[in-house]
Amino acid sequence: MLANHSATDKDTVLIIDASPNSIRILNAILGEEYRVIFSTTGATARVLIKSEQPKLILMDVELPDIDGFALCQSFKNDLTTKDIPIILITEHQEDESREMGLRIGCADYISKPVSPAEVKLRIYNQLRIRRNEDLIMQRALYDSLTGLANRNLALDRLRYAIAHDLRRGLLTGVMLLDIDGFKIINDTLSHDVGDQVLVELSRRIVDAVREVDTVGRVSGDEFLIVLPGLHQTENACQIASKLRKALNKPISLSGGGEVHVTVSIGISISPLDTDDFKRLFANADIAKHQAKSGGKDSYRMFTSEMNDNVHRRLRIEYHLVWALARNEFSVVYQPFIDLKTNKVVGAEALLRWNNSELGSVSPVEFIPIAEQSNLIYEIGKFVLATAIHDFSHLTNAAGNLLNVAVNISPQQIRQTKFIDDLKEIMESEEFAPERLELEVTEGLLLSQQAYVKEMIGKLHDMGAALSMDDFGTGYSSLSYLLQFPFDALKIDREFVDGITDVELNEALATAVISVAQGLKMKTVAEGVETQEQLEMLKSKGCDLAQGYYLSRPIDINAFRLFLGIEDVLEQQPEDNESEAAQN
Ligand code: C2E
Ligand code: MG
Ligand code: MG
Repeated sequence: MLANHSATDKDTVLIIDASPNSIRILNAILGEEYRVIFSTTGATARVLIKSEQPKLILMDVELPDIDGFALCQSFKNDLTTKDIPIILITEHQEDESREMGLRIGCADYISKPVSPAEVKLRIYNQLRIRRNEDLIMQRALYDSLTGLANRNLALDRLRYAIAHDLRRGLLTGVMLLDIDGFKIINDTLSHDVGDQVLVELSRRIVDAVREVDTVGRVSGDEFLIVLPGLHQTENACQIASKLRKALNKPISLSGGGEVHVTVSIGISISPLDTDDFKRLFANADIAKHQAKSGGKDSYRMFTSEMNDNVHRRLRIEYHLVWALARNEFSVVYQPFIDLKTNKVVGAEALLRWNNSELGSVSPVEFIPIAEQSNLIYEIGKFVLATAIHDFSHLTNAAGNLLNVAVNISPQQIRQTKFIDDLKEIMESEEFAPERLELEVTEGLLLSQQAYVKEMIGKLHDMGAALSMDDFGTGYSSLSYLLQFPFDALKIDREFVDGITDVELNEALATAVISVAQGLKMKTVAEGVETQEQLEMLKSKGCDLAQGYYLSRPIDINAFRLFLGIEDVLEQQPEDNESEAAQN
């Protein structure tokens, strides 16, 4: 029965009381402030509480058709009504029923005969408490900027969806979506623009996904989407494609202008990948990172292989931290010969890592990790110190002092102490800087920062030679070469590999060598594996060569023995496996 339903913005109060007289009195007290609905029986009350979702219930436990306490209990047991505060109306001061009511979970009680002021006050208090609770709940579960579920709520929904779908034999998808380059938007265009982008993207995501899906904002620019009830993996891919299309459209800004963003998405599916919600979330994160590192603006499904990669990476990172202190590194040397004299004139120092748990790990794998975790400076210093020490008095068979080439990471050169450290190492070994060649890759030069230029200049002034490593693999930009004082160009193995059988490569190699000659740079061919390659390089006027055909990288003792060989090219490379023996 609805007594007063004109003003719907008023809070609804349900009165359950067997006495019409009491209802009239209460209606007179509350009618102005609240929307009052009432019932004189338990049966009607049950219907009303569901259909009207009152904000509060005021009830007398003496009902004609059902025990009032049992009714209360059923409201408290029902998920949809358990949070509605109930105020009991008791006859006089019956302690027993009050205690019973409180135990069931009633919020408060009022004694009959009721006083208008007391009724109003008690109801007001209860509603105020409820509103505050709602507010706290809202803050605890929702993101204030976008109004989306926050991390806690989204993960809770994910957990629930997985359990529910497992019972139904369906798949649950979880999608992690991240805005590419969001930091740049925030930093260059202002946080206000960043907020606008987040709000607009939230709206588009919600529009693009299904009604049953949960969209949450789990961190600054990262959204989680729970996709319950999928029949096949393909469904998640379709949603991802749809999302990318919706999000790639330009976003108009309130202050004029527009921005264009792309997103990277990672997806993992329960129970195919795992049915544990935390691991599913972590999987989606891994897949998302793969999407990012694979060039962004794309989506990736999680594969168990990705997990293996991440674990391997973490293990390498963990063991790398201790590797120096535990003497797990060593340095091997790969000789290079002068193609005009066929004599060994130096060697490239190459780092080796042997860990008791991981075994021998390739520098191709661990150097990038050492670079990202800032361990490279100390490791690089170890290589320099070892190489300079090993070569301090080393001569070839003709008695000429040998050069040593050391690979240097951009992170090393970016540190200002690098020059001083290098000087100190060379002075302590009385090593002439002219005998040191520093190999850097193009990556360093791409940053174009003034201090990189300054550092390279200082190293050059010091007398050390600079080599551009792996030329032919990256941008291979000759304009960089012109800007920096390089002494040598190392032609990458891939280039050398095709030199004898692909005409184009031969022409390119010829071009590179002649350009280098024009710039007064020496050319070093890397990865020479056959005699044909060597002859071809010689005929093109290449200065130096290095590769398995001449020798694998070998330790310093093996290298000293190798130096005993007078004319390298007249000997057959007999022990090409000597590196494997040490690894
Ligand atoms: P890189 O500087 O280009 O070194 C040449 C790589 O080619 C070495 O691999 C060498 O063993 C390999 N190689 C030489 N001749 C041949 C050949 O005929 N055939 C084939 N297939 N390979 C050949 P390695 O020792 O595995 O090193 C790989 C890369 O790791 C190096 O490439 C360098 O970029 C990096 N690296 C090695 N040691 C250091 C270091 O001490 N510091 C830094 N920053 N990087 C290092
Ligand atoms: Mg190198
Ligand atoms: Mg190289």
